[in-house]
Amino acid sequence: MDKSLDLRFENSFANTMEGFYAEATPAPVATSNILASNTSLGAILGMTPKEVELFASRYGAGAELPVGAQPLAQVYAGHQFGSFNPRLGDGRALLLGEVIGRDGIRRDIQLKGSGPTVFSRGGDGKAAIGPVLREYLMGEALHALGIPTTRMLAAVATGVPVYREHVLPGAVVTRVAKSHLRIGTFQYFAARGEKDQLNQLIHYAVQRHFPELEGSTTLGMDLVRAVARNQGRLIAKWMSIGFIHGVMNTDNMAISGETIDFGPCAMMDTYHPRTVFSSIDRMGRYAFGNQPSIGQWNLARFAEAILHATKDPSEADIQEAHEALQDFSNHYHEIWTTEMLEKLGITQPEEQDASLITGFLQLLQETGSDYTSTFRKLGNYAQYSNAEEWAEEWSEWLGIWESRLESQDGGREGAALRMDHKNPIVIPRNHLVEETLSAALEGDLAPFHALLERVVSPFELSDEDIRYALPASAEFTDSYQTFCGT
Ligand code: AMP
Ligand code: MG
Repeated sequence: MDKSLDLRFENSFANTMEGFYAEATPAPVATSNILASNTSLGAILGMTPKEVELFASRYGAGAELPVGAQPLAQVYAGHQFGSFNPRLGDGRALLLGEVIGRDGIRRDIQLKGSGPTVFSRGGDGKAAIGPVLREYLMGEALHALGIPTTRMLAAVATGVPVYREHVLPGAVVTRVAKSHLRIGTFQYFAARGEKDQLNQLIHYAVQRHFPELEGSTTLGMDLVRAVARNQGRLIAKWMSIGFIHGVMNTDNMAISGETIDFGPCAMMDTYHPRTVFSSIDRMGRYAFGNQPSIGQWNLARFAEAILHATKDPSEADIQEAHEALQDFSNHYHEIWTTEMLEKLGITQPEEQDASLITGFLQLLQETGSDYTSTFRKLGNYAQYSNAEEWAEEWSEWLGIWESRLESQDGGREGAALRMDHKNPIVIPRNHLVEETLSAALEGDLAPFHALLERVVSPFELSDEDIRYALPASAEFTDSYQTFCGT
């Protein structure tokens, strides 16, 4: 018998935040063909594998609405590449509702690519297969690497054509996030001078993400500080694995501290702080090495928005905002240093270890080395001292580092073991991602699933799969470009 699925939606946003969204309905679809469905995420949401399948096939393209869903498009503003757009909003996404997971965490279930909303600004509200699968794959890869991120429950082809530079097959992705509140959500109400709404939003955000702050008399600034810490942590983790988000506009920065809207994201291969792959990032605003300072810039816009909630911000309020931003920087540096030292096998940090990190990065850059695999190679060196595999430039640094490892408990052996569990051997390398997305466009999903299977266990790889570990050719990387449009 055809049974409908009950996800037990609990829709706090729809029920308590009127004025912060517009109701929306998914566009009709021709067919609904499952490209991928996520049983491990489903389990967190309390769904059996069968229920995930059922969700994907019946609701994943927006053909039907699950019981309890209250579909809506959220309003938000945002600084895009530095210029403020007072009205963006979900132009190609709609929130179905919220589900409380097995872990007690409330999460949004959102369809992305499900057709236009009142916020579409001339866009078609649709998404194509390629970007949908990219978001799916990258979300799982980040998650497997321990990085807070939105994840996809399902990717479903709609049979509806999407008109971009070429005509592409359409698809819808189901995104799961701790919430979709963005810095831009706060900016929208701040720019309109709507203090009551802004305060309501602050309360909602605190209740949902930082309940420990409830009752504080300085709720707004406490929220800025909490978000700053979350973002400091998130961006430090991105930097440690060589992740380039690609479009860090303020509307793409979630206050939950999860990675979101990483359409044109990429992994850095050859180490260089100026690495940019996004076709629209012509000035390199969102280059790899700029991500921490852009994060801080975005948080300054957040602090500014929050100050609008107060009647007349005093000098002291402004000073407090500055201090809150400092929390980002402190937190970022602390976590980045710890992460990088762990990647180098150092777990009992000392003052002078910072120079080991900078020395290592400098050598990576000078020798044009691949970021991810050099850490792995270093773990190998810790164990086997295979100096012949390293160019002459490295010898001095390797010598200092070796003696540093020997001064720690467990010595080189212990470090080598830890490093193999810290430094991934498989990441979603850009050329592999492109290869699998091209095959998917031709109707062959096997390469996509093969890559997905490898990136979700990033610390191990069998010898016959070694191609998943290898960097792209220089020719590929030099001309590689990514594009936004989910
Ligand atoms: P993004 O860069 O993906 O975060 O998108 C920025 C803004 O553009 C958001 O408000 C989106 O909803 C909107 N947008 C992007 N693509 C489309 C589309 N195809 N149709 C309608 N709105 C879109
Ligand atoms: Mg966005």
